[in-house]
Amino acid sequence: MAQGTKRLRGECLCRRVGYEVTDAFEYAMNCHCSNCRRATGSAFKPFAGIRATELTVVRGQDDIMRFGDGTHDAHCAHCGSLLYSQVRDGAYMHVTLGTLVDTPSIRPTAHIFVGSKAPWFDICDALPQFNEFPTD
Ligand SMILES: [Zn+2]
Ligand SMILES: [Zn+2]
Repeated sequence: MAQGTKRLRGECLCRRVGYEVTDAFEYAMNCHCSNCRRATGSAFKPFAGIRATELTVVRGQDDIMRFGDGTHDAHCAHCGSLLYSQVRDGAYMHVTLGTLVDTPSIRPTAHIFVGSKAPWFDICDALPQFNEFPTD
């Protein structure tokens, strides 16, 4: 499963919150759902999934604002950056690739929830497109 034990650093806009995550993401995608668009203010959210135990908040634990119960989005309470979402009954983290300081080995391999895509945005690459979260 793991490509290695290299740790990647990530942080929010104001740098109060910092995390480390193992460079062993299991999947990476661009999500076009309306929730991800609102949470990021962007056309889509590039994220990568990893087991929750592989992510550690190393700084600013008390500065994290959690949106949602159980399954939740973790934002910095000060600057608002969306750092990660805890999903799949808490077992996985969906890390926003934009908050990583270091470069992960993985690259997004698909566009998902393209049925909710912003009409003003055109997908201009050849990655496969799905209407939901693909399950193999
Ligand atoms: Zn911040
Ligand atoms: Zn989404």
